[in-house]
Amino acid sequence: MERYDFRTKRLFVEVPLAAGRQVEASPGQSNYLFNVLRLKAGDHVLLFNGADGEWRAELAPAGRRGCRLTVTDQTRPQSPASDLWYLFAPLRQARLDYMAQKAVEMGAGALLPVITAHTQVGRLNMARMRANAIEAAEQCGVLSLPEIGEPRPLNQVLAGWPAGRHLVFCDETPDAADPLAALKPLRGWPLAVLVGPEGGFSADERDRLRALPFVTPVALGPRILRADTAAVAALALVQALAGDWRAAPARVPDS
Ligand code: SAH
Repeated sequence: MERYDFRTKRLFVEVPLAAGRQVEASPGQSNYLFNVLRLKAGDHVLLFNGADGEWRAELAPAGRRGCRLTVTDQTRPQSPASDLWYLFAPLRQARLDYMAQKAVEMGAGALLPVITAHTQVGRLNMARMRANAIEAAEQCGVLSLPEIGEPRPLNQVLAGWPAGRHLVFCDETPDAADPLAALKPLRGWPLAVLVGPEGGFSADERDRLRALPFVTPVALGPRILRADTAAVAALALVQALAGDWRAAPARVPDS
């Protein structure tokens, strides 16, 4: 069982990682390390880049405000990225920030925005979505960033759906199937989860989704959840019943 060091700050970097390499922290990272976390020269952080696993690095000042990170040793080998897709109708910014971070924490490996009939948000700030994904990945201990798709119409996504992947459709109508019974048969299959917008799905969308062979409608209880709440509830169910929660990481005991 893997042992995570939850105390040491983790940073996502976009350079190769190997023993002895020198990594220049970005201005934002340098400020955060020295002025927010109050770390000092000689302290350590953990770096990951989505390809080389996780490495310990030692801090040193670089110039007036910069920070140079000297990579020392690997703490965790690279593990495969999550294959769980999270499809969502874009929400208004604050809730979208929250939902993007929670989807990453809950183990989504792809964040795929879909435009539905009642979607109230047109443009998606992709840079902000990526920043949220990085922040969540650094915090929750994953070793890869999720793939982030461009917004696409729901019908187009469904028309080009890949063979073999099941879509868990979070359907807010009362007669949706019991999630436990519905999800158990999906264990072991590539999965995706779909959550609708603030206005819910249209009747046409619901009919179309329910008619598709690769779609499994599930109810998340008898109450109407906010879309960002539904994201966490749905991903928790899927991970518990058909996902990766059978091998939860061992926490480092607090010394
Ligand atoms: N008006 C609220 C809720 C809209 S429903 C808001 O502002 O967020 C948003 C989406 O969450 C739905 O399309 C559905 O995908 C999911 N959802 C909410 N409650 C649900 C439930 N009880 N069962 C299944 N999915 C639900």
